[in-house]
Amino acid sequence: MRIVNSSHLEHSMNIFDSLVDYGHEEVLFYSDPKTGLRAIIGVHSTVLGPALGGTRMWNYEHDGDALTDVLRLSKGMTYKAAVAGLNLGGGKGVIIGDARTQKSEGLFRAYGKAVESLGGRYITAEDVNTNVRDMSWIRTETQFVTGVEGIGGSGDPSPFTAYGVYCGIKATAKKQLGKDSVSGLRVAVQGAGNVAGHVVSHLVKDGATVYVTDIFKDKALSLANETGAQYVEPDAILSMDCDILSPNALGATLNDETIPQLKCSLVAGGANNQLADEKKHGAMLQARGILYAPDYVINAGGLMNVASEVDGYNKESVLRKNEGIYDTLLRIYAMAEERNILTVEASNALAEERIASVAHVHRTYSRKTVINRSQSSSGS
Ligand code: NAD
Repeated sequence: MRIVNSSHLEHSMNIFDSLVDYGHEEVLFYSDPKTGLRAIIGVHSTVLGPALGGTRMWNYEHDGDALTDVLRLSKGMTYKAAVAGLNLGGGKGVIIGDARTQKSEGLFRAYGKAVESLGGRYITAEDVNTNVRDMSWIRTETQFVTGVEGIGGSGDPSPFTAYGVYCGIKATAKKQLGKDSVSGLRVAVQGAGNVAGHVVSHLVKDGATVYVTDIFKDKALSLANETGAQYVEPDAILSMDCDILSPNALGATLNDETIPQLKCSLVAGGANNQLADEKKHGAMLQARGILYAPDYVINAGGLMNVASEVDGYNKESVLRKNEGIYDTLLRIYAMAEERNILTVEASNALAEERIASVAHVHRTYSRKTVINRSQSSSGS
């Protein structure tokens, strides 16, 4: 295992400028030619606690693309954990390679050693193209991994993500429509996957009229049949006349082309990175009078579930935390109004203010300790 000289990166990015821009504490490169491991771990912040974030495996065309992903995603985890009220920082790992052909026990155990070398400053989990088996290989070499079956594991995060999304939809409806429940509201749900399935069930049970779609028609049809939702075609969902649009498929749903078509009062869903451009499209929604629930706030239920493993898994406490998303969103909407900023800007500010206040407490405490020591030594 060795640290790779950054000049080997093919991409023309200026690495140290990027680190300054993103504000990372450390970024580590690992290479183990025998197992084929080429990995990067980004520890963005440990102010609130150990940096938790998944490891994805992807066949990046350039190493610089992998680094950009690590920097972007680990910073995102810092904000998500901070707003979720978790005592965790943000981190992310990437393994460069083809997940279909290059996975092996040796590769993931070498990666486990890399995680272990950080001494608990980074805790990993599943992400795109990694699974429970990969996590158990990592667990052989380090305890700093979550999502391992049979060792106090938290299991599938989707039901918790969905429960948080449902609570967040209710908060957003309360703010925008003055409604205490979704009963009688029309909700258009994009996607019929793991998260959407549970979101639709909660909404239908609560009396909403739900429309659902998926690019795999059979998936959406069977979800509609199971729950009593109504199927609509994928290209009709965004322009549906409805109260709530809930994106639960892939990212960048809200863009230059789609926002003018929307006929909803609010957008609240579990998909990551819903705004193609955070500021531009957040502002376009606001200008149209559509209230947007910041995605990383409303979809933090799954992270809360994984985070619970760190201190000993407790399902009831996870569900209470999921319900806290309701109050967090109301606080964000109030901040956005008071400061005349976008809801995404308010959630970013909430994260930054929490991190700054905790950093201040840590700094203050350390300084007092030093003063006390010097006083006691001068007196002896
Ligand atoms: P999933 O793969 O189970 O479901 C996604 C579904 O969206 C699939 O059925 C897919 O066919 C469908 N889809 C893709 N593009 C579509 C389109 N244009 N129109 C309609 N349907 C489309 O994934 P998931 O775990 O349910 O996650 C859904 C979203 O929530 C993702 O953006 C994910 O990053 C985010 N998220 C998930 C979790 C979690 O706990 N699973 C946590 C946080 C965020």
